[in-house]
Formats: sequence, C-alpha cells, structure tokens
Amino acid sequence: MKEENLWLKYEADELDALEKVCGDYRAFLDAGKTERECVSEIIRQAEAKGYQNLYTAQTLQPGDKVYAAWMEKSIALFRVGTEPLEQGMNILGAHIDSPRLDLKQNPLYEESGLAYFDTHYYGGIKKYQWVTVPLAIHGVVVRKDGTRETISIGEQETDPVFAVTDLLVHLSSKQLEKKASAVVEGENLDILIGSRPLKGEEKDAAAAQILKLIRDKYHIEKEDLMSAELEAVPAGKARECGLDRSMIMAYGQDDRVCAFTSMRAMLDMKQTDRTLCCILVDKEEIGSVGATGMQSRFFENAVAELMNLNGEYSELNLRRCLSRSCMLSSDVSAGFDPTFASCFEKKNAAFMGKGMVFNKFTGSRGKSGSNDANAEYMAHLRRILDEKKVVYQTAELGKVDVGGGGTIAYILALYGMNVIDSGVAVLNMHAPWEATSKADVYETYRGYMAFAEGAAL
Ligand code: MN
Ligand code: MN
Repeated sequence: MKEENLWLKYEADELDALEKVCGDYRAFLDAGKTERECVSEIIRQAEAKGYQNLYTAQTLQPGDKVYAAWMEKSIALFRVGTEPLEQGMNILGAHIDSPRLDLKQNPLYEESGLAYFDTHYYGGIKKYQWVTVPLAIHGVVVRKDGTRETISIGEQETDPVFAVTDLLVHLSSKQLEKKASAVVEGENLDILIGSRPLKGEEKDAAAAQILKLIRDKYHIEKEDLMSAELEAVPAGKARECGLDRSMIMAYGQDDRVCAFTSMRAMLDMKQTDRTLCCILVDKEEIGSVGATGMQSRFFENAVAELMNLNGEYSELNLRRCLSRSCMLSSDVSAGFDPTFASCFEKKNAAFMGKGMVFNKFTGSRGKSGSNDANAEYMAHLRRILDEKKVVYQTAELGKVDVGGGGTIAYILALYGMNVIDSGVAVLNMHAPWEATSKADVYETYRGYMAFAEGAAL
C-alpha cells in the first residue's frame, strides 16, 4: 500500500470525514498551545464523551472510561475492556509539549528604554527562526498563597503580540558571516515587551510600566514571576496551507498532530475486549524527564490504580499487564523535502500524502538511543492495517549519519512490551510554523482506530 497518494484514493464521503477531523484538529491546536492547555482541552473532550476522573472513581467495570491527569501536564485515558487487565492493553502514546521560549524566573529587565522578558529556549530549535515572528505568552503564575492566574496574551486580534528583534540587513554583513547556529545566540532570544516609560519613575521606567500593567490587570507582583511557567509561542491560529488547502500550517504539530489523532481515535472507539489506553505526556522535547515526562512513574502508578479499582491489582498482575501491552508510540517523522533532498534517503523517507508513518527504529549514528521494534510486531501491524485498508509507509529520520532523533518509545519498551514508533510526516519540524498533510492526519487517525480495535500480538 506504500506508493499510493491518499488524495487519489479517497471518495467523497471520506473527504468529508477528512475535513471534519482536520477542522477539529485545527481547533485542538488553537485550544492547546502549551502542555497544560492541551491537558485541559483533552479533559474537556473526554468528559464530554463520558470519561471520569480515575482518582475519584470508586469501582471499575468493563466499558468504563476514565482519565488520569498528572500535574495538569500529562494525561492517560483508559477504556476498560472485557478481558482481564493482566492480558495487557493497546496503548496509543504521544507527547504534548513543543519547542518554544520559556520565560526565566527573573525575566524582566530594561535596556536603553526598552523592556524585555529574558528567556531560555525549550527543546531543540534553530534559533534564527524565532526572531521577528509575532509571539504570544501562555502559562500560569502561582502566588505565594496558592492562588493563580492563567495567562494567554497574543491570540485574540485585539491582543498585543511580542517579538524577538533581529539586526537590520543593512548592518548585518558581519552577522551573516557567522555560522547559522551562532547567528542568534540563545541568551539573546529575549522578548521585547514594552517601550513606554511610567511617568514619575526615574530608573527603568519602561520596565516599571510593565510591572504596573501586570499588577493592575492580573494582581501579579514581580516576585510572583518566580513561581510562574510562562511560555512564548508563535501567535495565531492554525491555518490551511496551499491553494488546494491540502495541508495544515501551525505551531506545535510536533507532536500535537499525533496527540490529537491518538486522543480522537480513543474517544471515537467502541468497546473492545482489550483495555485501551491513550497516554499523552510532557517533556519529550527535553528528554522525557521530570514528574510529568514519560520516565516518571506516573503512568505505571495510574495503571496500578486502575487495576486496584477493578480488583485485579497485584505487583505481578501489574507487571504482566505492562509487559503484555502493545503500543504505538507516535511522534512526527521528517517529511521528505525536495529542497533538501540530499539529507534524505528516498527509499526510506516519509512522503507527504502517503499515509501513516512507521519508524521501525529511530536514533542516530548507528541507531543509538533507538527502540528498534520487533519484526514480529511490525508484521502483526501490517496485518491489522491491511485488513482495514489503512495506507502507511515506513521511513527513517533522514540519511544515515546525517542526524536523527528520539521519542518516548524506548521508555515504554523497558517494560518488555511491543512498541513501535509511528506518526505523521511534517515539514519544518521544530520551526515556529510546521506543515502537515491533511490526508496524513486523517489516515493516521484511521490507523490508530484500526490498531486499537486490533487483536493482541
Ligand atoms: Mn516529537
Ligand atoms: Mn520534537
């Protein structure tokens, strides 16, 4: 099924379904520009479909639907099957954090009459891409008394936006001789936040104006920024791309394209024998670390809670459940870009419009850091997907020795379960605006549905 272009395959009814899923996907991207916003949007959609909070549930029966959110930044959805949990689950996983500029804990300063927020970038970025684009600020500020403000500035048409400045080309001859990695230094990715001095203030009057504004509007003091998580992200909504509207251009598609399609498949699934799970985690872009990253015990603990509620819990049953599970660990794959063809190996590259992508392995320079899925598992998936006529392709992230990347797959594989990397091809990965094919988004959603329904290996 590899060589087919999806646009030539779809009939009218499928094109309607495709547009519906992609419209909902764009709305999801607009609602979730941070991991916290994604979690609250996922809870909203899950509750609308009858999901309840795992941590307040009393018992669990087959057919019950629950979610377990952790620190508002990671979330697992479960749909209890008729089989005992010790038989394992079908798991869809992805990440909901994306590269961006995080405000430092003491961010505000003034230089020559201009006020700035100092940042530390999050995830791997080409720093030169993040200057002169309109930015919005999203996040939370928690006061010492525990009360908090949720912030989102820059998304409404009447909102102001922010930006990192760049040197005018007229004076750039020296700058342009630098290596691209040094053209813009990380410490210079500071956000211009104001330029209007506060009357009567003698020192740093522009910064004082900013402090006054946030004090008046949000009742936030300068010290409160110490306990804040504020993220500068590209401002604006997800858009259709191309005169034929065949693509989507948006911030944060790595990896919200896989998070959305996994969640949507989970919410649309009917009851199955096997328990279904959708795990959407934070911190993938910085190594899956922290209490809300995939390396956290949060997921394992949530499964233990689940087994406790249906009376199945024992240490051994938990281990059996995890080791007998099957997972699609989904993340974006590098879409083949003809402009940079020399970085790809065409026989093993992911093409836009050619369907769901499987990466049997990821990693770099000799598969280092990879989860290399079993041939038996890949064969099993081929069988399931072919049965449901899902179009897929196999790929690897670029040519051997050119680079590579990692995902959360290897972490779940530690339990001994079958895990494979899958997902959607994307152009401009990690840039402020990334592009995907609508057809791939839809076909990947279909692939997740087929997987979730499929029998165990
Ligand atoms: Mn990713
Ligand atoms: Mn990434």
